[in-house]
Amino acid sequence: SLTLRSVTVRLGGRAVLDSVDLDVAERETVCVLGPSGSGKSTLLRSVAGLQEISTGEITLGGRDLAGVPVHRRGVGLMFQDHQLFPQRDVGRNVAFGLRMRGAGRAEAERRVAELLAMVGLPDAQRRAVGSLSGGEQQRVALARALAPSPALLMLDEPLGQLDRSLRERLVVELRQLFHQLGTTVLAVTHDQGEAFALADRVLVMRDGRIAQSGTPPEVWQRPASAFVARFLGFDN
Ligand code: ATP
Ligand code: MG
Repeated sequence: SLTLRSVTVRLGGRAVLDSVDLDVAERETVCVLGPSGSGKSTLLRSVAGLQEISTGEITLGGRDLAGVPVHRRGVGLMFQDHQLFPQRDVGRNVAFGLRMRGAGRAEAERRVAELLAMVGLPDAQRRAVGSLSGGEQQRVALARALAPSPALLMLDEPLGQLDRSLRERLVVELRQLFHQLGTTVLAVTHDQGEAFALADRVLVMRDGRIAQSGTPPEVWQRPASAFVARFLGFDN
């Protein structure tokens, strides 16, 4: 499980994350919603170790992450700025994290085949990533993030560039996949439909704080404030 205790990130003289407390249970999928600039990506980057926190404590599986470098945190990342290598084949892209962590060639190959089958691309191993469709590339990125069996998978707008029908299909597949693997997931999305379809629990952020945390029906039926209601699009 993931815990944040009073996590604050100060950037440019203001608290971009402002004393955030958060618990994500093992196997739970939490989706983070909120306006642009509310701190969603900063939250994920802080947990990943890509953003230093000013004060507070982050633990994963009971381990304090202070001073632990990104690749030792046991987190899988699928961010839009973590691009695939387009000129390399799918197999090498997925194996990237495994080889970095010292997996042998045979072990890496076995795992890559297993992951590609899991994301529905069993025959894509030798294809150049650049020859795949957008949705197929997103699946490769997902397989790569899952490759080292991370304790926590973090997705920042994972389906951002895809069209609606593909997103809707992938969201259903992702939800099944996460449940099947028992992965703990923290995902940012701009798309409420996506969050409500994917999440066991939704967080709504505002100005670096968590404005509301609840199951999708709770948040949808009982917005905690006028801000949340407005953000969800209720005109009252
Ligand atoms: P979006 O939905 O647009 O992706 P977000 O909720 O992910 O937004 P963040 O990227 O976490 O927002 O940024 C939160 C705030 O922190 C923004 O106002 C941003 O301008 C600010 N910020 C981020 N990095 C820095 C920095 N290095 N220096 C100053 N301010 C920063
Ligand atoms: Mg962001």
